[in-house]
Amino acid sequence: MVGFSLSAEQTDLVMSVREIVEKHVVPVALEMDTRGDDSFDWRFIKLLSDHQLLAPNIPREYGGRGLDFLSMAVLIEEISRGCAGLAACMVGEIHATIPIILGGNESQKELHLPVLAANPVLAAFGLTEPKGGSDVKKLSTTVNYKEDDVIINGTKDYIVNGAVSEFVTVCASTDVDQSRSSFRFVIVPRDQIEVSTVRNKMGIKYCNTAQLVFNKSNVPAINVIGAEGGGYLLLNQTLECGRALIAAIQVGIARAAYEMTLDFAQNHHQFEQPIFSNQGVSFPLVEMATIIDAARFMVWRACWLVDQGGDFTKATSMARLYASSVSHKVTSMAINIMGAIGYTTDNLINVYYRDAKVGSIVGGTDNVQRMIVASLL
Ligand SMILES: Cc1cc2nc3c(=O)[nH]c(=O)nc-3n(C[C@H](O)[C@H](O)[C@H](O)COP(=O)(O)OP(=O)(O)OC[C@H]3O[C@@H](n4cnc5c(N)ncnc54)[C@H](O)[C@@H]3O)c2cc1C
Repeated sequence: MVGFSLSAEQTDLVMSVREIVEKHVVPVALEMDTRGDDSFDWRFIKLLSDHQLLAPNIPREYGGRGLDFLSMAVLIEEISRGCAGLAACMVGEIHATIPIILGGNESQKELHLPVLAANPVLAAFGLTEPKGGSDVKKLSTTVNYKEDDVIINGTKDYIVNGAVSEFVTVCASTDVDQSRSSFRFVIVPRDQIEVSTVRNKMGIKYCNTAQLVFNKSNVPAINVIGAEGGGYLLLNQTLECGRALIAAIQVGIARAAYEMTLDFAQNHHQFEQPIFSNQGVSFPLVEMATIIDAARFMVWRACWLVDQGGDFTKATSMARLYASSVSHKVTSMAINIMGAIGYTTDNLINVYYRDAKVGSIVGGTDNVQRMIVASLL
C-alpha cells in the first residue's frame, strides 16, 4: 500500500532529533564549518551517541537501534539540515557497517557492531583509490592470506571518518588480474592504518576525510568478511542502498537553504515591503519547496524498496541523482534571493552552497548514476 505519512515512531524520532539539532547543532553550524577538516570535534559525535543516533542501523541484538532505511532517511535529513558534515560522518559509518551486517559471520558482528552502537566512535568505508573511484572493478589494493593472517597493501582516498575511525571496512582484491571475482571486504583496525593526508574540502568540512595507506597491514584472517567470490555482490549491495542515505543528506541541505531563504524573504524589506511580496521572489521559493518535496519522496520510495527487499538499484540511483541536483539548484537560488548577504562567507547559506556540491560526486558521480539507470531502462 502506498502511504505518505510516517509512523508514530518515525514522527517521534523526527521531532526529538529536530529538537536536538535545533538546540545543539544549528547555533554552532557555522563554527563547525569554519573549524575545518583538520581538527575533528568529537562533541557532536558524543551528542549523537548519547541519543543512540550513531550507526542507528545496527540491529537490536548487537545493542543498536535497528532502524530501517526509511527511518534513517528521515533522521539523516534532520541532522543534515543542521550540519551536512555531521550527517556525512553518520552515513560514512553506516556504509562501514553494511558489509558486516549483510555478509559478516556471527563472531564478526558480535565483535565489531556493539562497540559502534554503544560508544561515541566512528568507522569508515574504504573503497576509492587515488587513481579514480568510478571504475570500482579496477581495485589495486590487495589482500593476501599468510597463515592465520591477511596482509593488506594499497592506498584508499577521500575516506570519510578516515583518520578518526576505530576501524575501516576496506574493499581489496586477492588477485588484481581477476578483478571483481576476487574482491573481499576486510575489517582493518586503526593500529594497522597510516593516515597520509587529511583532505581539505570545500564543503561538509566538519567530517574528517583522509587518504589512508595500508603498508603490509597485518590483520587476523577472521576479519575477512563473507565467502570467497561474494565480495563484489556485497560491494554493490552496500553502494546501492547507501545511495538513498546520501540522497537524504542532500534533501537536508536543500531544506536548510530553503527554510532560511523563506524566512529572509518574508522579513527583508525593499521598496517598503517584504521582498516575498514580489512574485520574482515568491515563485522561486515555490519551485524550491516543490523540488525538495519531489526529492524527498524519491528518497522515501528508494528506502521503502530497500526495506521491502525489492529491486531498489534504479530507485536509489535516481534518488541520489535527483537529490544532488535539487540541493545544488536550491542553494544557488537561495543565494540569488539573499543577494550580497548570501555571498558572504560568514552566512550559513554559503555553507549550504558548498556542502551541496559534494552530492554530485559521492556514492558514484552523477554520470555513474546515469550509467546505472541507463543499464536498467
Ligand atoms: C567528500 C568526499 C567524501 C568521500 N567519501 C568516501 C568514502 O567514505 N569512501 C570511499 O570509498 N570513497 C569516498 N569518496 C570518493 C567518491 O566515492 C569518489 O570521489 C567518486 O566515486 C568518484 O571518483 P573520482 O573522484 O576518483 O572520479 P573519477 O572516477 O576519476 O571520475 C572523474 C570524472 O569522470 C567521469 N567519468 C568517469 N568514467 C566515466 C564514464 N564511463 N562515463 C562518463 N563519465 C565518466 C566522472 O563522472 C567524473 O566526472 C568521497 C569523495 C568525496 C569528495
